[in-house]
Amino acid sequence: MKIGVIIKTHDGLWSVTRFLDSDTARIFIRMCSIQLSDQIKSIDIVQLDPCNPIQPPEGFEPTYTNFKDHKYWCPWCGELRYFGTSPEYRDYRFCSTCHISDADYHIRRFNKLDSRSGMPSVKATGGGEKLNRKIRKQKRREKLAKRIVIDEENE
Ligand SMILES: [Zn+2]
Repeated sequence: MKIGVIIKTHDGLWSVTRFLDSDTARIFIRMCSIQLSDQIKSIDIVQLDPCNPIQPPEGFEPTYTNFKDHKYWCPWCGELRYFGTSPEYRDYRFCSTCHISDADYHIRRFNKLDSRSGMPSVKATGGGEKLNRKIRKQKRREKLAKRIVIDEENE
């Protein structure tokens, strides 16, 4: 398992250091917290193994409220995180801790985001495309039924 330690300081520094096991990472964290003590704003451990995203807890469902608040399950932090904007890339949002963008496949998958628009997918909210298809089918059926009636009258 590859893990990263993300350190944020009060003067806006953001750094990620990669480790192959959690024991060395823990030693590193202890050293950093002694050396930088009062400058540190936060220390977070994130997962950097792209093959092993952390699954959301059982029963996790992306809700519209969370979507509106830009809170997504981050499979790299293993937590529900706020996704903020970046002045450089305005089309995307980024995890406040590990800075992964919402274009990430696993983030879209776990949070049921549409692959194109970044909105919650119609399948997740139970409306949109599916419903339209149902209405279209219904209309087609009605049209067909009418035609059959007309044909019968002509005979
Ligand atoms: Zn994250």
